[in-house]
Amino acid sequence: MEKINKEKFGGEGKKKERHALSPAPNIEEGLAEYMWITEDTPQSPMAPMRCVDIQYRNIESDGPSTLGRMSCYAVGGLSGGESKDDFWRTVNICTDLLPKHKPRYLMGVGFAADLVVCVALGIDMFDCVFPTCTGRFGCALVMSGQLNLKQKKYSLDMRPIDVECECSTCKTYTRFYLHHIVTVEPVVACSLLTVHNISCQLRLKRQMRSAIEKNEFPKFVQEFMIKHFGNDPIPKWITEAMAAVNIQLLEDKDLMNENDLTLRN
Ligand SMILES: [Zn+2]
Repeated sequence: MEKINKEKFGGEGKKKERHALSPAPNIEEGLAEYMWITEDTPQSPMAPMRCVDIQYRNIESDGPSTLGRMSCYAVGGLSGGESKDDFWRTVNICTDLLPKHKPRYLMGVGFAADLVVCVALGIDMFDCVFPTCTGRFGCALVMSGQLNLKQKKYSLDMRPIDVECECSTCKTYTRFYLHHIVTVEPVVACSLLTVHNISCQLRLKRQMRSAIEKNEFPKFVQEFMIKHFGNDPIPKWITEAMAAVNIQLLEDKDLMNENDLTLRN
């Protein structure tokens, strides 16, 4: 087995060097190594590829039977500053390698577009501080992105955050009220926005699950991306990621008729 060069991954420290130079003797230690290595990956631009390398190494050393013994799988070390191109390609490699009939969980990913892309690539579960963290900054998630309720334009806005949202915050409070308390009662505002933000993400996941069950997921992705990015172009990395799983996104949204969301494939 090829030894992993410490310098290649820019690692420092005795513990990291020891792990980097020796293959995991068993699955338990292999997982411990994997989890430890992902703890400090945000500082490393090579973090995603390092994690993938660990996955490959465990597969090579323990064989497919190791993967088959696990009840679910976590992919970590991403969303730490790597390029979006590295991000989706790494997720795609991992989901190609991991058993498709068992849950695959992606750690620390919470942006709506990222959730949709990663579900398309084969991820089943997520967790992330994003919906609660962004609520602390006075931001409310919506399908088109987020609203910064600190902005003055919401000072007379009597609508809820999202008219389609069923959460208690949207049913009870206006953007006007939330704009007011976000500065004078930040703890209350944080709680209200957290309720909404988590509800918003749960709704997105329910919509994706429903689209998958109806065998309409490609159409859902197309519609979501148009709604999410509005008049902005869909980023190239998303177009390429979706093409990798045979979901063709229209490059020119001017060609898209809202009443005809037929995909090109
Ligand atoms: Zn809501």
